[in-house]
Amino acid sequence: MNTAELTSIEKRHVWHPFTQMRDWEATDPLFIVKGSGVRLFDSNGNGYWDANSSLWVNVHGHGRREIDEAIKRQVDELGHSTMLGLTHPGAALLAQRLASIAPPGLTRVFYSDSGSTAVEIALKMAYQYHCHRGQSERSRFVALEESYHGDTIGSVSVGGIGLFHGIFRRLLFPVDFAPSPSRFKDAGEAASKLEAMLSRGGSEIAAVIIEPLVQAAGGMLLSPPGYLNIVRELCTRYGVLMIVDEVATGFGRTGRMFACEHEDVTPDLMCVAKGLTGGYLPLAATITTDDVYSAFLGDFSELKTFFHGHSYTGNPLACAAALASLDIFENDGVIASLADKIDYVRARLQKIAKLPHVGEIQQCGLMSGIDLVKSTGVPYPFAQAVGAKVCRRARDLGLITRPLGNLVIFLPPLVSTIDEIESMLTIIEEAISQVTTDMEP
Ligand SMILES: *Cc1c(COP(=O)(O)O)cnc(C)c1O
Repeated sequence: MNTAELTSIEKRHVWHPFTQMRDWEATDPLFIVKGSGVRLFDSNGNGYWDANSSLWVNVHGHGRREIDEAIKRQVDELGHSTMLGLTHPGAALLAQRLASIAPPGLTRVFYSDSGSTAVEIALKMAYQYHCHRGQSERSRFVALEESYHGDTIGSVSVGGIGLFHGIFRRLLFPVDFAPSPSRFKDAGEAASKLEAMLSRGGSEIAAVIIEPLVQAAGGMLLSPPGYLNIVRELCTRYGVLMIVDEVATGFGRTGRMFACEHEDVTPDLMCVAKGLTGGYLPLAATITTDDVYSAFLGDFSELKTFFHGHSYTGNPLACAAALASLDIFENDGVIASLADKIDYVRARLQKIAKLPHVGEIQQCGLMSGIDLVKSTGVPYPFAQAVGAKVCRRARDLGLITRPLGNLVIFLPPLVSTIDEIESMLTIIEEAISQVTTDMEP
């Protein structure tokens, strides 16, 4: 079937995520048909850099032989069974592997399928944990303004981005929001409101949930160093569980395997997803401690069971991909290779920062955001969609990424070489320069 025929079918029947479909219907979609390394190819044979890792999931590149082969081997054995009442080798081996690389003390792995479900599970586990310990009044959660934890109703409840989720306000459970740590230079100051909330309402709070180091979808907002550590101390002091959402930051994105490692923090619950399978298949995990796990043990009739599970939880193909991805981390010394790339990006972004319509640049490891400004200190109006225009121009120049408002996101697969990173940032620089010059004054 040719692209024109596919286009008419697609426009009649598909509804896209985070997309104004009227705009979508007015333009011709790009059909991606092949990936190789850090390049994607469309149905007309055009190639593009994958500069946002296929929405933050890809780690070792597309068509990565080791992962392809692991999935093929697994599909010859078993495509899917269930984790309800049964298990399979990949689930056991991957859980052992995750426990061995996670911050020390995280030993138990509960599988699901997406970052949002990993967060839902952490919230439910935290509440039920307190119930089993005779503290069912601990039913409230504390989250941070500007945070993003996914799109299901529970994860939206603890999300702090009004732009995406404001319309659903009436459907959400009440959550206490502390200020975004990015508003402060000093970690102690950043945590002072949070501390006040915990000391005031401490006995009703089940857990604090945070994105470590960087509030990614909120605009790559960086926390001051030491903040994560202070949150850990506060949670311990007030008997509140600490949930760390490593969905964006996990698997090398910040320069370490997990962002928690930068401050030697072990949370009570850690959520991972995006990069877990190297960006191949949907798989997530909520990883927790012996302490949380053992609170759920009891006679069947006590109903201490954690009543939660999805049809495709712990899918064998996805587990095989995840194990192959972790092998690559080990065999290729991926984490050790990142520091040079991160430094290169930092230096190159400083040059881009000199463009007249570039404001602040945020970077945490291999995740960065370039803020576009009308002039210094004056943001472009939302309706001008300058971020979307720049990304659209970048696509014409052979690079794919998506903006967050006026922020152009650069988040290349970890496998990208410095030459590839240079090629990508050259296109981004060119696209920003062209679009912002066209839009003047
Ligand atoms: C993407 C993301 C999620 C949601 O993950 P999905 O797999 O899209 O449901 C949750 N938390 C963070 C920090 C994320 O970046």
